[in-house]
Amino acid sequence: MQPILPLTFILLLAVQSPAIAAQEPGIESQDVRALKSLQLLDQRMHTTGYRLVSANSEFCTETVPHFGILLHDLQQYGDQEAARLALGFSRPIAINAVAPDSPAAIAEMAAGDGLIAIDGTAVQDVAIDAEKLADEKPEYRRIAAVKEKLIEAAADGQVTLAVYSGGANQLITLTPVKTCRSQFQIRVSAKREASADGDMVSISSALAEYVRDDEELAAIAAHELAHNLLKHRERLNAQKVNRGFFGQFGKSAKRIKAAEIEADRLSVWLMANAGYDSQAAIRFWTRYGKQHGKGIFSASTHYRWKKRVKLFEEEIAKMQQMEPVAGKYAPPSLVGGEPE
Ligand SMILES: [Zn+2]
Repeated sequence: MQPILPLTFILLLAVQSPAIAAQEPGIESQDVRALKSLQLLDQRMHTTGYRLVSANSEFCTETVPHFGILLHDLQQYGDQEAARLALGFSRPIAINAVAPDSPAAIAEMAAGDGLIAIDGTAVQDVAIDAEKLADEKPEYRRIAAVKEKLIEAAADGQVTLAVYSGGANQLITLTPVKTCRSQFQIRVSAKREASADGDMVSISSALAEYVRDDEELAAIAAHELAHNLLKHRERLNAQKVNRGFFGQFGKSAKRIKAAEIEADRLSVWLMANAGYDSQAAIRFWTRYGKQHGKGIFSASTHYRWKKRVKLFEEEIAKMQQMEPVAGKYAPPSLVGGEPE
């Protein structure tokens, strides 16, 4: 995504989850503060991601049911006491964020609510398929299994959740909405970076803190989501593209650059459909480009920011010439309207 980063960033094979490193005792309030600000970033990321995947679902070939909730597991945090204090876990598996206007938001679910059961199956009894979840760190396997269970349960069009909310157990029945298949997360890192692994979009905490507003966050999220929707990781793997040092040369470089251009082009359509200002992509990359100059990074795989801005402008001009249908612009690269 960004010209200063190593080549491997675009399509990292293993995306790390936002585990919090174990903290030293005696500085609990700092831990609590750090966790609270991380949760705010998680909530912004979740809201942005949900808007993008729900608003563009009609253009995605692969969709998943979504309730608008982001779950987390107490055991994924290094300092569980601080996590309990900061994040209000009323049960070991709890809601980390609820996207506005989502089915969960309409049902008045909120961060901190505990998840007890899904369609009658207690969350602690959800089977953890160790083989299938081998790529996940052990402390993330339970939450991954629970998320999977939620999607499975939603297949018949409705889910009944037992939750602990407002001091009482409640049963809440939700009807999912269809969304493009992609997840979003904040990865704790001091480096400004973002990646897409085919399923997960990861944006570093440093980059999420660098953006000026949610529109700019949406610009980055939309670029990474575009990589996932266009199946770039799968396609580049099939072409045996080298994303390491030698990927800066020859065919690999060309293919990576082509994928970057496709992602940039699609990103502004995804943004517009979700009600974001597509110009935020131009604002963000112009500022970022000016601040980071030429970077240390090979021009063979990524366009310089001025060229990227031109791509955004071209795509925005295409949209302006179209008549949107129900407020949506069909992205040519997803609906096959135009050769790439
Ligand atoms: Zn990219």
